[in-house]
Amino acid sequence: VTVVQPTDKAQFRAWASGGIPEPSSTGMGSWAIPVPIAGSRLRYVLTHVLAGDDGLIVIDPGWPSSSAWAALENGLAAIGQRPQDVVAILATHGHPDHHGLSERLRAASSAWVGMHEADGPRLAQADQDELARAELSRAMGVARESASSNPRSADQRAAPDRPLADGELLRQGGRQLRVIATPGHTAGHMCFVDEDQRVLYAGDHLLPSITPNVSVNSRQNDDPVADYLRSLDRTAHLDVDHVACAHQYHFQGASERSQALRGHHQDRLDLLLELITRTPGRTCYQLTSLLPWASAFNEMSRRVRLLAARETMAHLIHLEYRGRIVRTSSDADGDHWEGA
Ligand SMILES: [Zn+2]
Ligand SMILES: [Zn+2]
Repeated sequence: VTVVQPTDKAQFRAWASGGIPEPSSTGMGSWAIPVPIAGSRLRYVLTHVLAGDDGLIVIDPGWPSSSAWAALENGLAAIGQRPQDVVAILATHGHPDHHGLSERLRAASSAWVGMHEADGPRLAQADQDELARAELSRAMGVARESASSNPRSADQRAAPDRPLADGELLRQGGRQLRVIATPGHTAGHMCFVDEDQRVLYAGDHLLPSITPNVSVNSRQNDDPVADYLRSLDRTAHLDVDHVACAHQYHFQGASERSQALRGHHQDRLDLLLELITRTPGRTCYQLTSLLPWASAFNEMSRRVRLLAARETMAHLIHLEYRGRIVRTSSDADGDHWEGA
């Protein structure tokens, strides 16, 4: 059920028909340039460009590939601008479809890069990371499934020149953006609010019809679901008209969408609790196979199943923190769960 109104009809039509929209003006002091993401069902990231007195502010430059770079360059040309004109690069979070091109754009322009430190390059603790990863796989009950997947790739994330903090007001060339920390999708996710134009640059925190992935990984083990629910509370109470999100299409209704996503996660938590209470002893992976997903579990690739399991694990950890469930035993097949 869509509870939000698309505000860019061309983006909406392109998304619905499986295409990629043209660069467009938001009518709110910025442009959206769709930058393609190779091999992704999301197809493109909406890179946002704000013009200030001294140059451009770019939010989420896009995926690190030469065709993505060409799309960004062509998109800038379409609005009469060049990469050299960029003075500031902001990343809503560290995922490569958003932050992947930051390094190349910084090199082409000498712009500064701003983002939350938690989403910058990972610390050089590869061994500990490997151990944490193996332990998480075991706990989820996917140790064998994941043994040969997830090849470790070199981390090419640009380190921020300016680590950003919640509540900060960024000033650049007469433009102002308020930084709002919205952890959940990643530990360092941030939204940017143009208070003059009443626009929320939302990254992946709010998308019009997709529920952003909230999951555990070996470095984000606390309670990302609690973080995300708190972040949704914040965006439910912002004084904005438009949501310039990073995928699909722009929309109206930050508050409604925040509440709907809250409801979605509450439903998942209720369903998990019911499954665990009815049949105690199941592992995260077994529970994942019983939950409803956008596509049938049996038809998912192994990679997508593992992503789904990580999302389920985040919900299990949340229920555990709230004292609703406990781990009864812990063995090579995974951690087994029952009601508290
Ligand atoms: Zn993301
Ligand atoms: Zn994304």
